[in-house]
Amino acid sequence: MLKRVLIANRGEIALRILRACRELDIETVAVYSEADEEALHVQLATQAVCIGPARASGSYLNQDALLTVAKATGCDGVHPGYGFLSENPDFADACAAEGLTFIGPSGGTIRKAGSKSTAREIMRAAGVPVTPGSGGPVSSVEDALAAADAVGWPVLLKSSAGGGGRGIRRCDGPEALPAAFSEAKAEAKACFGKDEMYLEKLVLRPRHIEFQILADRQGHVIHLGDRDCSVQRRNQKLMEEAPARCLTPDLRARMGAAAVRAAGAVGYEGAGTVEFLLDAGGEHFYFMEMNTRIQVEHGVTELVTGVDLVRQQLRIASGLPLDIAQEDIHLEGHAMECRVNAEDPAQDFRPCPGRVEFLHLPGGAGVRVDSCLYNGCTLPPYYDSLAAKLLVHAPTRLEAIRKMRRCLEEFTLEGFPTNAELSYQILYHPTFVRGGCTTAFLDESLPDLLDFSRRIREKEGNP
Ligand code: ADP
Ligand code: ADP
Ligand code: MG
Repeated sequence: MLKRVLIANRGEIALRILRACRELDIETVAVYSEADEEALHVQLATQAVCIGPARASGSYLNQDALLTVAKATGCDGVHPGYGFLSENPDFADACAAEGLTFIGPSGGTIRKAGSKSTAREIMRAAGVPVTPGSGGPVSSVEDALAAADAVGWPVLLKSSAGGGGRGIRRCDGPEALPAAFSEAKAEAKACFGKDEMYLEKLVLRPRHIEFQILADRQGHVIHLGDRDCSVQRRNQKLMEEAPARCLTPDLRARMGAAAVRAAGAVGYEGAGTVEFLLDAGGEHFYFMEMNTRIQVEHGVTELVTGVDLVRQQLRIASGLPLDIAQEDIHLEGHAMECRVNAEDPAQDFRPCPGRVEFLHLPGGAGVRVDSCLYNGCTLPPYYDSLAAKLLVHAPTRLEAIRKMRRCLEEFTLEGFPTNAELSYQILYHPTFVRGGCTTAFLDESLPDLLDFSRRIREKEGNP
């Protein structure tokens, strides 16, 4: 087993990882930027080292500093978390070159899965259904127009390097394409430093269904069921649940088998996610991308399967074979997650981190909170705005919804605005309650949901 792991991340995921390490008697080395001196992950680690300025490029993305600290503190492994360097194949290779175990797949595998346009080709060859699209990247507006005419409008322009919903633009016809192309390219360049684009046919009113997979070095690959992440604002997830209500056992088995095949096609190792779109008819599914890391919403899978995914990552990276087989995986009850972000829905979701003046987190049976917040801490403005993840687990979906409503009623955060009330409104929306949300739901219902919140605040005399 690994002995000492450097956690190349911050926030709630750094805490999540160090908790799993502690339970396995693995020591932890936290790294932090000058903006994170008082962060919880710094206080809970075996040892903590400042690696640079607030700006992520000088700290959490600074590969040399991370590797130097890992070696100087005697680490044998590096956990990248999500975001930052987690899907950077050069970092995975650099760790290996320094004799450090990168807790994730090899650089070669990340390269195959990480470029979305390359991954599509690999999946097609492996017999995994993909959406119709350009066969490879499109390098100019003319290229994109020709590809879109061939697959049929509307299309989605997507960055090959994309993540977190960035670098994506919908395009309904040829007139709109030049502007959408340059906007998506510029956003991709700014977010990922790369601006290769490709395009896919837009699937109308789909659901986002993803499968969690685990693969060990001995060649065993299993899936741990599915998550429905269709509640999204502008292609970014807000609420997730497991299992997806819309899957029949037969469809679940077919999609799960496709996810396992997808993992096999890129020689996967560790924990990963295969994302699919399920069409409006609920019959056809298409591979969308593979995320070669632990995902924000992994907790809902842990709640319904009872499997600790970070513990499994650490075991696999230590060279141990999977201690669970596909037939050991049973989905018990229903789990749900709300992402609480420091952002103001009333101001077009402007990020608005700040100091936590007062905090009360919900608890009780079937409740899990993953958060780096504490009373008096300051959420710095330099990183993403995720402040807390509220998770619930209950025997049925309706009970999970009621438990989540109760959690959001209890949740109290003074100091900066969050999207918590918006999530609360969603939990009462008839479309959500009957399990009918597609990825179009939130963008379409947002005006009503926000208006409702505003009227309630006015009634309470608290505008
Ligand atoms: P998804 O990639 O499907 O949106 P998550 O919601 O789990 O998955 O994303 C995890 C976090 O990592 C988000 O905060 C997101 O902004 C960030 N992220 C995802 N992919 C990348 C990437 N390629 N580069 C930088 N950040 C990313
Ligand atoms: P990211 O890496 O940013 O998570 P994805 O490829 O996973 O990018 O796409 C993000 C979201 O965009 C999906 O969850 C889905 O809602 C939407 N999306 C992506 N591709 C399509 C498509 N071909 N048709 C319709 N919606 C799509
Ligand atoms: Mg995605």
